[in-house]
Amino acid sequence: MKQEQDKLIDCKCCGSNACYESEFTTEDGKVNTWLCMTCGFTSNTTMTEDSEILKQTLELTADLIKDLRQDHNGLVYFPTVITMPEKGMIFPEPIKDTDDWGWTIVKAISISEDEQYKYPDPTNPGTFYKKRMDMENLKRFDKLCFMDAAEELGMFDKNLLVDNED
Ligand SMILES: [Zn+2]
Repeated sequence: MKQEQDKLIDCKCCGSNACYESEFTTEDGKVNTWLCMTCGFTSNTTMTEDSEILKQTLELTADLIKDLRQDHNGLVYFPTVITMPEKGMIFPEPIKDTDDWGWTIVKAISISEDEQYKYPDPTNPGTFYKKRMDMENLKRFDKLCFMDAAEELGMFDKNLLVDNED
């Protein structure tokens, strides 16, 4: 899979001009992906209304995310969920006592060496996680502040380093 180009376009979901479009060339042809830095909604050219990938997504996805589904030009958009084992997670969550929702981030924290035995890694038997999600320290962000949430999590650290070298 080869990544061709990235650019910012107008978001179909919230109308901001900060929707990040990436283009990939795969064996099956070109695929575009979208992730809006304002509202955090994501989709791609394979996410059509009758697609198998949509069916699978609906089976695996939390109710809140399903409820927030948006359809535009035959494609289906959902709020994104990002898990970075080294950094943490970002996901949409209902706001207590309201009908509204927002972004929640959880940071990954180091597990001390004598505690690591409690966190076996099921994909690599005999090894243990060195980081865990710090569920007691959640941070919440407005639903149109996906960028701030992603930044807080350090999602762009690598990119920033590359930019600074220019
Ligand atoms: Zn948007």
